[in-house]
Amino acid sequence: MPPSIHEPIIGLPDFKIISYKGSKTIEIEVEYVGKRECPHCQGQRLPQERAAFTGFKDHSIGINKSILLMRTYKFQCYGCKRYFNQRFQGINLYQRVTEPFKEQVGLRHHQGTNKRVTAINLGVGEATVERYYHRHLTLQSNESKNASCPKILGIDENILPKNRVI
Ligand SMILES: [Zn+2]
Repeated sequence: MPPSIHEPIIGLPDFKIISYKGSKTIEIEVEYVGKRECPHCQGQRLPQERAAFTGFKDHSIGINKSILLMRTYKFQCYGCKRYFNQRFQGINLYQRVTEPFKEQVGLRHHQGTNKRVTAINLGVGEATVERYYHRHLTLQSNESKNASCPKILGIDENILPKNRVI
């Protein structure tokens, strides 16, 4: 499947934009086109039980806030007969915010906007800013650990004389 052209706009893969409206807060109606499978047995035959129309806060577009609106389903698996709520890539279960939104909150505070202003601008509580800021730092430190590994190995290889037994 070709990569979705909408991914840069909403910051997530596997969503198809159906419509959008609004100016201060942009409401983007989307449909999830990613994989649907049972989290218990990975079965993919899933009759749907009921649907709800749900809104998820997403990252800002320019100076405007954005919200994703979509149908979410509860499924019963044909294989193991268990019920479960639909999962989405980039949104944690039972949460009403996307991962790009959390990253935006954390990054804005990290770049110097104080907690109170970040909270007001992005429509969250100050405790939430704190939580997403720590999430941002953890992700950054994990990324830098992974990135530095090959470089260190490379330096060692150059410095050690050939055929030397350690
Ligand atoms: Zn199942």
